[in-house]
Amino acid sequence: MTTIGDQLQQVRARIHQACAIAGRDAAQVQLLAVSKTFGPEAVRAAHAAGQRAFGENYVQEALDKIAALQDLRAELEWHCIGPLQSNKTRPVAENFDWVHSVDRLKIAERLSAQRPEGLPPLQLCLQVNVDGGANKSGVAPAELPALARAVAALPRVRLRGLMAIPEPAEGFEAQRALFARVAGLLDRLRSEGLVLDTLSLGMSADLEAAIAAGSTMVRVGTAIFGQR
Ligand SMILES: *Cc1c(COP(=O)(O)O)cnc(C)c1O
Repeated sequence: MTTIGDQLQQVRARIHQACAIAGRDAAQVQLLAVSKTFGPEAVRAAHAAGQRAFGENYVQEALDKIAALQDLRAELEWHCIGPLQSNKTRPVAENFDWVHSVDRLKIAERLSAQRPEGLPPLQLCLQVNVDGGANKSGVAPAELPALARAVAALPRVRLRGLMAIPEPAEGFEAQRALFARVAGLLDRLRSEGLVLDTLSLGMSADLEAAIAAGSTMVRVGTAIFGQR
């Protein structure tokens, strides 16, 4: 039987291999373990195998899990990666370390206003709708620079970079090209003077293509915890 620890090892090996092929240092790519739908005991098993950063999609489920794992709180980093409505921002500002799914200014303003003084700034990524699907989450590339400048100016959050979930594409090259568009958007923002270091790109099925395009954080659920 495969344990969570074994599967984590396999994912780490995939990351190393993809970095070697891309000529990148594996230390530049962080692994975010996406624990949505799995219970606190799965997170404990991954933590025991050396994993610290965990991604969650659903706010209430995450709050229950964070509470159940309070004894490990100082050793864990919680990332909100799911769509976020404005009436849910307060518990997110109070309980998470990162939010990857910010796609409008109102959400970022609320997170900044609601981030408790005693905590470090909330780390943010802006989610970009890079393939233009009309009903997909994410800011349109044309609106990204203005949003990024406004979010970067907020006091209690720190803008770190971009996140995207491109549609599955046919083949490695097509997938890499979609991810590379997001990397290009990050480069443009940097050339305008924003200090950004994070590209949250790649999941279980496409992390190699994401790393080839410059991902610095892959979000992996199924390959670590199993089918949901
Ligand atoms: C569920 C999810 C993941 C993980 O997907 P897997 O295919 O299980 O690795 C990554 N990112 C987001 C935003 C998700 O919702």
